Parts: sequence; C-alpha cells; structure tokens
Amino acid sequence: MPLQIVGIMIPCLTQSKLQSFKALVDGAASVTVISHMHPDGDALGSSAAMGAYLRTTLSKDTVCVLPDTPPASISFIIPDTVRYIFADKAREEAEKRILSSDLIIVVDLNKPARTEPLEACLRQASAPKILIDHHLGPEEEAFNLVFSTPDISSASELVYWMLKSLTGSTESIPAEARNALCAGMTTDTNNFSNSVFPSTFAMASELIASGTDRNAIISRIYNQYRENRIRLMGWMQSREMKIMDNGSARMILTKELQRQFGYQEGETEGLVNVPLAIGKVRLSILLTEHDDRMRVSIRSKIGTSARELAMLYFNGGGHENAAGGQLFFGVDIPDASAAEEYVESALKKYLG
Ligand code: 5GP
Ligand code: MN
Repeated sequence: MPLQIVGIMIPCLTQSKLQSFKALVDGAASVTVISHMHPDGDALGSSAAMGAYLRTTLSKDTVCVLPDTPPASISFIIPDTVRYIFADKAREEAEKRILSSDLIIVVDLNKPARTEPLEACLRQASAPKILIDHHLGPEEEAFNLVFSTPDISSASELVYWMLKSLTGSTESIPAEARNALCAGMTTDTNNFSNSVFPSTFAMASELIASGTDRNAIISRIYNQYRENRIRLMGWMQSREMKIMDNGSARMILTKELQRQFGYQEGETEGLVNVPLAIGKVRLSILLTEHDDRMRVSIRSKIGTSARELAMLYFNGGGHENAAGGQLFFGVDIPDASAAEEYVESALKKYLG
C-alpha cells in the first residue's frame, strides 16, 4: 500500500520500498550520492539533503559526486556538513569513490547517460544502485531499487517525503537537509510557477512550520545576482529574441556575447522562460555556445511538447514543458554559425 501523507499519496513511496531502502542503507558502510551533468538547484538540493541525512543522521561515510562543478550562483545549497567531489576537477577520485562504495544513490536523473563522463563508471560499479527521480521514462534495468514519479515537483520533494517517513517527522530531518530541499524544490518549480502539486504546498508548509527560513532561501536564490546577469538578460530579450509566426521564440547566447557580458555558467537561469510570457509564444528555445556544442534549453506552454522537440532534434529529453539537449559541432551542425539555421528549420518542421 502506498504511504498516506497528510491525505496525499505519493504512489512510488510504498512501505515495502522504504523497507528495502532501509535495508540497503543499513547494510552499507559507505554511500555515494550521484546527480546529473550541469547540476541545477534540484540536483544540488536532493543530493545534499540525502547526503546530510546519511552523514548527520546515520553517521555513514557519505560523499556526493557530480560530473561537473555547479555554478557559483547555486553553490550555497551545499551545506558544510556534506562532502562533494566534482569529476571535472577530480575525475580519478570521483570514479574511485563510485567503484569502491557499498551503495550508490542516484538523484534527479532518469538514465545513467545523464551523468555523461561518469556513465561508464556508474554502470560498471557493482554496488547496489537506488534511483530517486521525477523524470519520465526511468531506465529501471540500471537500478536495483527505483523511486520514480513524474507527478511531483522535483527530486527534492521526493527526497523530502522519503526522509520524513524514514526519520518519523519533518523536525527529525537535519536542518541543513531541510534548507537544501526547500531550495531545490523552489528552483525546480521556478518559485511555485510550474510542476506544483498539492504535495508540493504541503511540503513547503511543513518545512516552514518546522522553522526553515524560506525568506532567507528565496532571497539567496533571487536577490543575490551579479549586475552582469541582469544586463545580459535585458540584452538577450531586447536584442537577441526572435519570434516566428509559428509561435516559437529563440535566443542564441554566443561566445562573443558571453565575453562581452562576463557571463558565468548558470547566469541565464530563467531566461528561456521569459518569452512564454508573450501571448502568441508557445515554445521558447535558448542556445548557449560551448566549446564543442550548443547547449539547448526548451520551455513550452501546455499543449506543445518541449520534450518531443528535444528528443527529435536536439539529442535530449526532459519534462513535457521543460526540456533540454545539445547540438554537437561536427556532428549535428558544422559549427556555431550554423545553429540559427538548424534551429529555425527544426522549429518549422515541428511547429509548422
Ligand atoms: P534546462 O533547460 O534547465 O537545462 O533543462 C530542463 C530540463 O530538461 C531538465 O530538468 C532535464 O529534465 C532536461 N534536460 C536538459 N538537458 C538534457 C539533456 O541533455 N538530455 C535529457 N534527456 N534531458 C535534458
Ligand atoms: Mn529536477
């Protein structure tokens, strides 16, 4: 029977699965928590909270491993009590840790491929693997135990309900884990504007009731940007946003613009959502130039699938209305200068 939480049911959280989780954790001296490449607030929030629970509550030898270093703007989500290894800085150490730990817990991704450079290592590791995620189509075969539902705001929310039932109450979850979960859920829902379920408000309510300082978290997320970010966001909207008759809006953040505005990774967070505020826009796409590829971010209004476009034309996937992918130079397009034409043609084919 699924567990009943304040009248709200999270179908993937059953007593028997939670028992299996407990048994796997009890039997492990060392645990490694892993999340996805290009970590966002939810990847940090869910991994940090799980890490804090294992470390602070259960005194396990715990390390979180991420494929690459998170942007400075969201690093505050990581508490001092949790140790992280970033594989772009310490690849060997990261792989050694994954291969030698007794248990692996993977959060906020549905397929090992989302860990990019760590995929082979993750697949090769012989320890039992647990998945905790909210994306569609989890690769169940790659894991021994799977907690997965798309009907929840975020991996952070799913971890919250797990930790609440494992510890017995909201107050028993370590305070630093509650902070991380509040931040992760807030960023993934864009401060309660997308993917919000009754359980999401219940989580927020319980966190605030337990003393979590949401105002401080909100202020840390939304009122601590560098001036450059705000100027770049303005430039992108007034100069770079192109709207087509088919209801699409596109922006391309070239290396040249990145240099001009002193852009740092993560500083366009939220930008791709902005064009959807225009009535006639039903899909918005943002391309960010990297050395070997364009990173693609897609958002859509209900009735148009960002996910399908990402899968069909951008080597990606994601949620129905928030998806992403990439265009590799020399494979999908010759170089960055070919991106605009590619995107325009993909949007024409997809939207008409
Ligand atoms: P963002 O635009 O914030 O980078 O990504 C939005 C969502 O799209 C993410 O939460 C994730 O679910 C999905 N996503 C982003 N990049 C990729 C990708 O390369 N592959 C897949 N399968 N999904 C992605
Ligand atoms: Mn997420």
